[in-house]
Amino acid sequence: MNDIAEDDMSGIQYPLEGSCQCGNVRYQLLAPPLKVIACHCIACQKLSTSAFSITALIESDTLVLQGELAQWERLADSGNKNYAKFCPHCGNRIYHFNPDEPGLIKLKAASLNDTRVLKPEAHLWVSQKQAWYQIPDGVPQFSEQS
Ligand SMILES: [Zn+2]
Ligand SMILES: [Zn+2]
Repeated sequence: MNDIAEDDMSGIQYPLEGSCQCGNVRYQLLAPPLKVIACHCIACQKLSTSAFSITALIESDTLVLQGELAQWERLADSGNKNYAKFCPHCGNRIYHFNPDEPGLIKLKAASLNDTRVLKPEAHLWVSQKQAWYQIPDGVPQFSEQS
């Protein structure tokens, strides 16, 4: 993490609380994410109902979940398993994970109550990015996966 990111994140107190839109799923994030990335791929545009998704890569043991979650299993284009956990009541996506990498979780961090965490350190799949969106200067970008 560089100095600028630390300045912006300095007021953030862990654990952070988060929830799905309806509130049936609640969670605590115990420690800062390893990395926060924006993904501009078409699948993430559908998922986020927006121009890109923002994912916080975290260690699995830093997430404490409460409430019922449903699961959807898909294979990414890379062939990696990308399983999704979501609230069965409101449909809000909570996180993605690869069962072959059980130590890591890709948290859909817009469900956090303190959304200052949502500052991407890198932008992926810029080749599918919406033309009107300008990536801020100095933030690394990759035409596909990093
Ligand atoms: Zn919900
Ligand atoms: Zn994506």
